[in-house]
Amino acid sequence: MAKAPTKYEMPKAYEPGKVEQKWYKFWLDKGYFTPKIDPKKKPFVIIMPLPNITGELHMGHVCFLTPEDIMTRWHRMKGEPALWLPGIDHAGIAAQVVVEQQLAKEGTDRHKMGREKFLERMYQWAEECRKMITEQEQRMGASCDWSREKFTLDEGPSRAVCMAFVRLYDKGLIYRGERIINWCPRCATALSDLEVEHKDIQGHLYYVRYPLQGDKEFITVATTRPETILGDTAVAVNPRDKRFKGMVGKKVVLPAVKRVIPIIADEAVDPDFGTGVVKITPAHDPVDFDIAQRQGLPMVNILNLDVTMNENAGKYVGLDRFDCRQAILADLEQDGLLVKVEPYSHSVGHCDRCQVIIEPLASKQWFVDTKPLAQPAIDAVKDGRITIIPERFTKVYLNWLEDIRDWCISRQLWWGHRIPVWYCQDCGELTVAVDEPKACSQCGSSNIEQDPDVLDTWFSSALWTHSTLGWPDDTEDLRYFYPTTVMETGYDILFFWVARMIMMGLGDTGDIPFSTVYLHGLLRDEKGEKMSKVRGNVLNPIDTLEKYGADALRFALTSGIPPGNDIKLTAPRLEAGRNFANKLWNVTRFMVRSIESKGANVRIQRDGLPVEDRWILSRLSRTISSVTGLMGDFQFGEALGQIHDFLWGEFCDWYVELAKIRLRSGEAPSPLPVLVYVLETSLRLLHPFMPFVTEELWQNLKKRLPSDWQKLESIMVAAYPEADEKAVDPQAERVMGAIIEIIHAIRNARAEYKVESRRWIEAQVYAGELTPAITPYSQAIQALARARPVTFLVRREEAPSAENVLALVLKEAEIVIPMERMVDLEVERERLQSEIEQSQAEVASLEARLRDKAFLTKAPPDVVGRERDKLAERKSRLERLKQGLDRLI
Ligand SMILES: [Zn+2]
Ligand SMILES: [Zn+2]
Repeated sequence: MAKAPTKYEMPKAYEPGKVEQKWYKFWLDKGYFTPKIDPKKKPFVIIMPLPNITGELHMGHVCFLTPEDIMTRWHRMKGEPALWLPGIDHAGIAAQVVVEQQLAKEGTDRHKMGREKFLERMYQWAEECRKMITEQEQRMGASCDWSREKFTLDEGPSRAVCMAFVRLYDKGLIYRGERIINWCPRCATALSDLEVEHKDIQGHLYYVRYPLQGDKEFITVATTRPETILGDTAVAVNPRDKRFKGMVGKKVVLPAVKRVIPIIADEAVDPDFGTGVVKITPAHDPVDFDIAQRQGLPMVNILNLDVTMNENAGKYVGLDRFDCRQAILADLEQDGLLVKVEPYSHSVGHCDRCQVIIEPLASKQWFVDTKPLAQPAIDAVKDGRITIIPERFTKVYLNWLEDIRDWCISRQLWWGHRIPVWYCQDCGELTVAVDEPKACSQCGSSNIEQDPDVLDTWFSSALWTHSTLGWPDDTEDLRYFYPTTVMETGYDILFFWVARMIMMGLGDTGDIPFSTVYLHGLLRDEKGEKMSKVRGNVLNPIDTLEKYGADALRFALTSGIPPGNDIKLTAPRLEAGRNFANKLWNVTRFMVRSIESKGANVRIQRDGLPVEDRWILSRLSRTISSVTGLMGDFQFGEALGQIHDFLWGEFCDWYVELAKIRLRSGEAPSPLPVLVYVLETSLRLLHPFMPFVTEELWQNLKKRLPSDWQKLESIMVAAYPEADEKAVDPQAERVMGAIIEIIHAIRNARAEYKVESRRWIEAQVYAGELTPAITPYSQAIQALARARPVTFLVRREEAPSAENVLALVLKEAEIVIPMERMVDLEVERERLQSEIEQSQAEVASLEARLRDKAFLTKAPPDVVGRERDKLAERKSRLERLKQGLDRLI
């Protein structure tokens, strides 16, 4: 004998806090997140973009967690072995800065502690952060495989870093050289070009006279950084500039330090900048550095690494760079060498991490020769092996790679992968090796010292798709999961990360690292401003999760947003997500109660189904096929929008309402099987987007279903719905479309005439050839539109004359509503009359305003525009009121 279903009330309201952690733990314990390697199946693989170790989860992380979880859950439900591999980045500079600040508060610093103790402290701190980040990712519902989680400084990825370095070095693609680098004086390290943020600054252009040697004459140069005069080793003109014919080869005396330097000619000089004569400071400007290399000019570095002036600065030694500028200007002025000063707006590099002004300076660093690596990365996108979504970023990617510059990879930090290079103190040669060498590879001396610097953090993340899977070893994971499927990340790190991963992936493995790049947008607040700590407009993800629930947050980040578009995260969007979860809760609760009171026969008998059953099954099938297509095209925002509109706008608002009428009347067939079927299928359709609420509801529903439903443990491992082509029923859609239209139209008329909710109004419907199909729904129309009686006219002529009636012409039907059933005619006339008068006054005042010349010239154009729109809107309202009054007479 079948066991009677246990009476169990679902709570009145959905409380995400009570179910989210329960289900996450359930999924984790069941091992659903770890894919089974099946050589017969093609896996779906995403390697997670690495959150920085520097503290807690922020909204930027939830931006990638959401689409990646959607994709992974979807593919898993489609039966593919789905791997989403999580990881964490050691975040070189950013992390070291945090711990150094802690040390400063404790009255110590890394130098006092020593490298070893300092790194111990860093690891301790990193471990705490790692735990916190993992916990927060889990709260978002991230279904990633924690058994494969990696940290960039773990042994495997670290070995991969050394291996990649050695391979590039052996190919001659890594070199050490003196180049102009971007020096951040605050972070005390070199930065790559990408880590420098260029901002327009209102500065000055200083015109300075350089006296010709042994002559009373001068030539005048213009500069924005007069302190760099101290490092000049030439002045230059363009060889085709006729103004300076005969000057080239002469010498000038450098002001302030009185060094004698030549006048040279070089094509790189822009004759239109300043006076056409430029100063050449090879140690402090990248363009001048190149000129100096061509022309064989010496380099004079004038700065210490804390950006005070060094001994080459003569009497200015010890001054800070900006104090030195003032001192030199004062001296030039006194000597009559400062000709003029002009305001000048120019672009100045700032440190991406700390916003301090970057100092370009010549320094010996390690570089990757990127051009030979870039070409295969360009080809992979051009020949379609890698697709970038949205497509508009393809051009941005190609432009950057075609114009790529060498990548400075050494950083003067302690936290990171130490450069695998040892210098011999005896013969001076280098040993480059994956494992720590015992002796110099050239002379065998054991007197060797490792390079003190570490590698750019992006060097290790560039290997992330293959280093996490075991490269350089030939592992089962690497063979099965590489190349990965999708790289999902923010468009802001297309160059930092995506392009470099493609270059290094191809270089190390000979194969592309992924076939699709999916770029999501950045998060903005309701005013459209980018969320950032500096602006103080950041929402805390944990607070948001607690207030709205993870599903609501995921909904707000996804619904309606096309790939690559920025996301405005606002309270109304979050509320919409929460309301949707509540709506689903309520409808499931209603269904659970109905099953308990009516029994649990939930098998659909396809023959003889009423129109509304055929309609909802048809709409469900169409929604599934559309959603599946959209998911395949990475249109998750649109897919979720369609599921939402189907569930709320068609299922809850119409089908469930009609089903309630049937359940009350007890008329056969019962709508329960269709209710259960559509809800259960839709929950699976929605699961990848809102995993927690769908699991909770699915489990609640499952408990009430017959025993063959109990085999499946979780919605997470149930099959993703597939469209049933046979269910598509255009005739049922047409009839239900007409019924919905009729009810809508009557409800709108009630709203327009402010009919009290308890008042019944009369409606006469003419529906032409659909009349026989619609007639059985007159009860439903009565109940849902509060219209009684509803009469069906056989011929249009039966409609009474147009006086004192409201006639509505719809797509499939016409409706006639006698006015006296809706309103008290006398009162309505008065109401309309008074509204017309008020409306006329408003129109007149707006018209006067828009004729006022003073207003039109002084007000900003958008204000004038708003007033014009208001006038148009008021005029049309007045027109409608007048028509309404005409109908009553
Ligand atoms: Zn900095
Ligand atoms: Zn040696």
